[in-house]
Amino acid sequence: MSDWFTVTPIDANTIAISEWGHWEKVHSFLLIGTDSALLIDTGLGIGSLKKVVDTYTDLPIIVCTTHIHTDHIGGHHEFCTHYVHEAEVDWLENGIPGRSLEDVKRDVIRDCTKPLPEEFRIENYTIYTGPASLVLQDQDVIQLGNREVQVLHTPGHSPGHLCIFEKQTGYLFTGDLLYVEAPIYAFYPSTSPSDLMNSLERISQLENVHKIYGSHNKLGLNPSIFVEVQEAIDYIRTNDLAKFGTGIHRFSKIAFQF
Ligand SMILES: [Zn+2]
Ligand SMILES: [Zn+2]
Repeated sequence: MSDWFTVTPIDANTIAISEWGHWEKVHSFLLIGTDSALLIDTGLGIGSLKKVVDTYTDLPIIVCTTHIHTDHIGGHHEFCTHYVHEAEVDWLENGIPGRSLEDVKRDVIRDCTKPLPEEFRIENYTIYTGPASLVLQDQDVIQLGNREVQVLHTPGHSPGHLCIFEKQTGYLFTGDLLYVEAPIYAFYPSTSPSDLMNSLERISQLENVHKIYGSHNKLGLNPSIFVEVQEAIDYIRTNDLAKFGTGIHRFSKIAFQF
């Protein structure tokens, strides 16, 4: 198998599947229950994510997408059960407005620090579209047998962005709402800087978060980062900066680009 993907165990039944060789340093996550397994996002679409997943479980796979951006749905075509928030059903089924396939393809293969898998052909790269198996709303619960997760509608970076919280373990998967080492973006037309602030405030007030897993860069953040998140929110609101065109706002570990 190609070594494009790096698997990092989080616990005996939870793994991170990372694409460190790409400049976006994307993570997908597999949570294995007793009846089914939850795959949070499917990465960039470079190489076969399913081959990796298949080595860890033969349970039915539910793909829950944090949001319909191309770096989170790259491997969607390899799976058949797709859950998505109601505000992005249209993007899943009919495509994402705004970016041409050529632009996306350029971003997929540029600046890679690992060789691309031999079987990967950028000429064959397409942006996934397909039906939603289940349309999610805020606070819906997904059952995996002995595990369950709750989805939280956290718009801002995109209109139907979801965070996924497992109360039992305290794992909070934050997609593109919270990560470090690069600005958190809300500058496309379909984003909302003020919603992003509200969503961040909401997750930072969750109780019993033990570890935060964003979709990009450093893997696994301690919940102490919520102190900085709240300070950043306060600063941005006080200075009326949660608006398009206000640029990059850097704090200690996190940054925003509006
Ligand atoms: Zn995104
Ligand atoms: Zn992303």
